[in-house]
Amino acid sequence: MNDTVLRFRILVLAVLLLFALLVSVAPFASTGQLAVLWGSGEGEAGGGYLTVAFLDVGQGDAIFITTPDGVQVLIDGGPDAAVLRGLPQVMPLLDRTIDVVLATHPDKDHIGGLVDVFNRYSVGTIIQTENESDTAVASAFTFSAEAEVAERYLSARAGDVIFLGASTTLEIFSPASDPTNWESNNASIVARLTYGEINFMLTGDASSGIEEYLVGQYGDVLESEVLKLGHHGSKTSSAASFLDAVAPLYAVVSAGADNSYGHPHTEVVARVKERGIKILSTADRGTIVFKSDGARVWVQ
Ligand SMILES: [Zn+2]
Repeated sequence: MNDTVLRFRILVLAVLLLFALLVSVAPFASTGQLAVLWGSGEGEAGGGYLTVAFLDVGQGDAIFITTPDGVQVLIDGGPDAAVLRGLPQVMPLLDRTIDVVLATHPDKDHIGGLVDVFNRYSVGTIIQTENESDTAVASAFTFSAEAEVAERYLSARAGDVIFLGASTTLEIFSPASDPTNWESNNASIVARLTYGEINFMLTGDASSGIEEYLVGQYGDVLESEVLKLGHHGSKTSSAASFLDAVAPLYAVVSAGADNSYGHPHTEVVARVKERGIKILSTADRGTIVFKSDGARVWVQ
């Protein structure tokens, strides 16, 4: 091959690369609604499967996701340092980085442990709701999130789609408008994780009112194989219409054993069971790990 041909080929390659870069970045730059997040490339962690672990953190939520591309996401961190005992069980040995931390809303049983997570792990992207809370734990969370100096800080709003590597997306369904002054549970980020044909609906502590709004907006589009029941299985969530629209195979309760709130409430358990949905609770089983190949999902 002579020099002219070689130079031409390099030029063509450079133009193609530039085009690919512009196409992949442009939506985020223009609308601010599409974040393209690539993981740290620790692909061995994914192993070709999506893994979703509902960690046993007592009374609270903490969900650790590893995508098939090895992107790691932590949704909520439970009330305290218990999350630091759960994470090493589902992360590679000596791994001290997490690509994305998402805090659904500023209540202690969701963000208390994230302060400990920021102290131990290096976090790439922090996603939160714009809800404001003046509690001591919310202040501690905000302080430590800022001190983390993450690469990106995002506020989630309905319509946002976050690409977690090439194969997996996190789609935001709620809040649909500015939740600054909303009651904190209802300001929860409701997000759906999708790999292939498999969906996980993750609702934070959103109440029936939000669920019914989502049913009105999206209907059967909400369909998901796994549903984390809202607000730890409280009777203030898991509306019948929402259970019918999501129509999951599995419902997960993230709650502490013998918790003082009586979660999950008996009427919710009955509503779930009468629909033939299998209900799993971290209070009974400890950490619950789902695995998916994009076509099927199973409990490990
Ligand atoms: Zn909660």
